[in-house]
Amino acid sequence: MNEGERLTELAKRRGFYFPAADAYGGAAGFWTYGPQGAALKDNIEDAWRDRFVVQAGHQEISAPDVMPEPVFEASGHLDGFDDMIVECGECGATHRADHIVEDNTDIEEAESLPNEEVMEIIASNDIPCPSCQASLADEPVDNFNLMFETNIGPGSSSPGYLRPETAQGIFVEFPQLSEYARNQLPFGVAQIGKAYRNEISPRKSLVRVREFTQAELEHFVDPEEDEPPLSTVEDVTLPLYSGERQQADDGSVEQMTVGEAVETGVVTSDWVAYYLGIARDWYERIGIDMDRFRFRQHLPGELAHYASDCWDAEAEIDGDWIEITGFAYRGDYDLQKHAEYSGDDYTVFKQYDEPITVERPTVDPEMSYLGPEFGGDAQAVADALEQLAADDPDAFDGEEVSVDLDGESVTVPVDQTGFSVEEITENGEHITPHVVEPSFGVGRLIYTVLAHAYTEDEVDNETRTYLELPPEQAPTTVGVFPLMDRDGLGEYARQLAEGLRQAGHSVTYDDSGAIGRRYRRQDEIGTPYCLTVDYESLGDPEGDADPENLQTDTVTIRERDSTAQKRVSIDGLAETVERLVGGELTFDDL
Ligand code: AMP
Repeated sequence: MNEGERLTELAKRRGFYFPAADAYGGAAGFWTYGPQGAALKDNIEDAWRDRFVVQAGHQEISAPDVMPEPVFEASGHLDGFDDMIVECGECGATHRADHIVEDNTDIEEAESLPNEEVMEIIASNDIPCPSCQASLADEPVDNFNLMFETNIGPGSSSPGYLRPETAQGIFVEFPQLSEYARNQLPFGVAQIGKAYRNEISPRKSLVRVREFTQAELEHFVDPEEDEPPLSTVEDVTLPLYSGERQQADDGSVEQMTVGEAVETGVVTSDWVAYYLGIARDWYERIGIDMDRFRFRQHLPGELAHYASDCWDAEAEIDGDWIEITGFAYRGDYDLQKHAEYSGDDYTVFKQYDEPITVERPTVDPEMSYLGPEFGGDAQAVADALEQLAADDPDAFDGEEVSVDLDGESVTVPVDQTGFSVEEITENGEHITPHVVEPSFGVGRLIYTVLAHAYTEDEVDNETRTYLELPPEQAPTTVGVFPLMDRDGLGEYARQLAEGLRQAGHSVTYDDSGAIGRRYRRQDEIGTPYCLTVDYESLGDPEGDADPENLQTDTVTIRERDSTAQKRVSIDGLAETVERLVGGELTFDDL
């Protein structure tokens, strides 16, 4: 079994995730998170919220999953959110054309190639249908829009779409959100929510699915004035796989600090560099192995239509690199588009420190001259003069001025145009903010964290599997076991478990089977600590211990990774566990 297969097997057996609606044959690309998976997902989302919303001082919103068609007309998704598809003429199966090219050739980013070229590559390499092995040589490569369409209300007059990214729910509400931020840039708005893409070939369990959770932050900035607090991350070392490195023969990753990346221009946007630094430390916090991690720059052909520089965080699993987050400098593309399509104001008013005086050329044409001279075109001539005054005031320097009217040049005496230059005072200007976007896929984070946490070692001459999850992320924090469920041990342990739950810990009580088996079950879901209640805890009800050595009201605590055990008092135990989980206390300190 490879890493992915072994993980999917464990995930199903231990309640992390499994294919949805299996009783009815299921549908590819839809997964249900079981009790451990849902808890892990909550913990990862909480850690994200903590770093990217609370600590950053940003705001979080929750927009609908379904939005009306005009939103996606404006965003460009209706026209451009396509993948390349090729259909097998023999068995009818459809495949992602770029993926089959990548799987069968040395080409790494086939997505960036035009359809015709992909079709030629399929033909020249004689790539067969992955389902039935028939030749795909003459099959056309078409575009397939990934959005799920629905109807809002009865009938089909009001089409809607399941959002393919959470971001649009933020952009479309910008005028409102900007008001909440008192129209002061910079400000950030985050959202954790579902996104839907009708992927052509879902694969690798949580990696490519049709319904997934995104955690996205849209940071709105003034491109001329706002700068990220780079000094807070300048010493963070980033494993960078730049476009240049990807095209070079050795193709190796380069380690450099955020400060160096900005200085040398390897990362062109300071804002993107800042977020790479913040994210790098966050990935480590949630348990991603930094030896199996890199930031890869998009190649020019791969860049989204809106982005000027874009980097993906990628994690290695089974020798493949999986994109877990995209970092994009989106410029003002999204807000401009929504302004253009909706007619609403997507700008903020930027107040100058001091009012400024500007010269503004204007015209006030003599209509009693233009009317008789140009008839029905008089107003059009007046409009053209106004435009010319704004664009090229010097054109009014002579006796006559010419403007273009439907391709024909017409001439007007300058003294009939009412041309003048006014001096006006301006207090500020309307600007369209730029957007910096880190966009995380929560399912892929979960998959990576689990794959990187999966560890095998030898305990008591047996192979043991455990998940080396950071205690903060572990779905269950403590396992509580009585040595046996008799002589009051069970009662004692149940009370202990209840007390820990009341203190806010996620606790599993387990009294079935040998104690070693119980430890293994917790190890496999990554529970960092187990507490065992034994006769010493009770003060020896059997009455055969040396009274000098009795340790009443103590339990053993076992650490998952080392399997070391110690005795601890149950006094203040909830707090001790909390400090262990929070990293304020180590197991050795106990
Ligand atoms: P994108 O908007 O394509 O840059 O996606 C942003 C993030 O969403 C990616 O980095 C992934 O983590 C995640 N993502 C995108 N598509 C999928 C998918 N089909 N299944 C799971 N996660 C996805």
